[in-house]
Amino acid sequence: MKHLKIIGYMILILSLANFVFSGYMYNELNKKNVQVDIVLPENLRSLAEDSKRRESVIIQAIMVMHHTAGIHPPGQEPLCPFCQQNNLKTVRRDY
Ligand SMILES: [Zn+2]
Repeated sequence: MKHLKIIGYMILILSLANFVFSGYMYNELNKKNVQVDIVLPENLRSLAEDSKRRESVIIQAIMVMHHTAGIHPPGQEPLCPFCQQNNLKTVRRDY
């Protein structure tokens, strides 16, 4: 029974110390204007543009596959590079 009292007091003291330290850190962090300058590496700056370009290449490849498989009618898909060229016939397969 005596040990439980000691453990209870220790938990109470630790939680109070944690509370006081948290308040102190909150005040300290609010006082100072913390500013972090993150410098992006050179090869990461063009990441957004590179990913856009890669996605458009993937979409064009899928559209070319659709075009050759005859999934969309020729000349009617604006994203398809084959549809941009005139007189390009669709290879239609009969499954
Ligand atoms: Zn097409």
